[in-house]
Amino acid sequence: MSPGQATLRSGQSPAGGSRALSEPAQSARAERDRRLLALDFDRAPFTIAWEVTRACAYNCLHCRADAQPRRDPRELSTVEGMALIDQLAGFGTQPILVLTGGDPLMRRDLFRLAAHADERGLRVALTPTATALVTRARMREAREAGIRRVAFSVDGPTAGVHDRFRGFAGSFLRTMEGIAAARAEGLALQVNTTVCALNVEVIAELVPLLEAWEVVQWSVFFLVPTGRGAILPMLSAAEHERVLGWLYELSRVVPFDIKTTAAPQYRRIAIERSGRRHGAAPGGAGYLFGDGLHRPPKGVTDGRGFMFISHRGEVMPSGFLQLSAGNVRERDPVDIYRRSALFCALRNPDALRGKCGRCELRELCGGSRARAWALTGDPLASDPSCSYVPAALRAQS
Ligand code: SF4
Repeated sequence: MSPGQATLRSGQSPAGGSRALSEPAQSARAERDRRLLALDFDRAPFTIAWEVTRACAYNCLHCRADAQPRRDPRELSTVEGMALIDQLAGFGTQPILVLTGGDPLMRRDLFRLAAHADERGLRVALTPTATALVTRARMREAREAGIRRVAFSVDGPTAGVHDRFRGFAGSFLRTMEGIAAARAEGLALQVNTTVCALNVEVIAELVPLLEAWEVVQWSVFFLVPTGRGAILPMLSAAEHERVLGWLYELSRVVPFDIKTTAAPQYRRIAIERSGRRHGAAPGGAGYLFGDGLHRPPKGVTDGRGFMFISHRGEVMPSGFLQLSAGNVRERDPVDIYRRSALFCALRNPDALRGKCGRCELRELCGGSRARAWALTGDPLASDPSCSYVPAALRAQS
């Protein structure tokens, strides 16, 4: 079954949250949701990913971080991490904080950091590597520390495909165990899948598994050739179009949300196919989840609604666009996000060059800045993975 051929069930609606709330709690949450979804991305990111460590036992083919087996002594310390969290709370908008790696479970202070972030109002998510460290006891600790969602990487529907990506026989089985542990502790579950030419024909076979695991979100990463992933085969522009179209049709019938990374063209495709102008939820309010992580109606991309902090404190537009705009050891990350030349340029659609710069959809989409950078060295260049011909160029031909 390929993305072009998948048979999908009908009559299902996108997922909402699973926890029942009292009426006052519901209205408090609704008010907070309204504030969160109306965020001004010039002032604050929607999502911050902090690579708490680069240490990881795995050797994944597509690892953005080029993860290492041991922790880097230059990582941000516990004290520095606590101070960083205080600074991030200074955005004043309760951004999502994804504790990522490497394998974040390789840090012994992980749950102290998570608890501090939760206390400071950040909405905390975790992306552990599926190793023996993912036990039910640790998932309980995660929940008690205020972590709302756990995301596992699953790159294929079978051990054969997934383990090949992960560079570790037994990884698929470990992932199944990790998912079971997180579910047993009542943590909301997200699955991340990187799509490239190696697995594109089998990703549709993941759908029944995602449904069985009751994931709240499927986050589909379109390969950016950076880190170890530079050697993997990307999809062509036509294949990007085909898979994004399939994902959009799928999003209408599965009981979980679908999000794309490094493929903001998904918004163009959703609009072309649905006729809607904003977001994916009724009324253009974005997606609301019971775990409080939600999704805004505006696209979140490199430096525009998204910010990445490396294990050594470098602030970058994303983990795939590895250009530093400053270091948290020297400058407040809030200031870097709001005022650095790099972040400001990435949020300015009129600064884009080439086809994206002439596209009438540059505000809504803008292309993957990370892929443009990875393939051309210019983060403002056109995204080579898009086959759309902007109206201005159609008029010329
Ligand atoms: S040309 Fe660029 S801005 Fe326009 S839809 Fe394609 S990627 Fe997006």
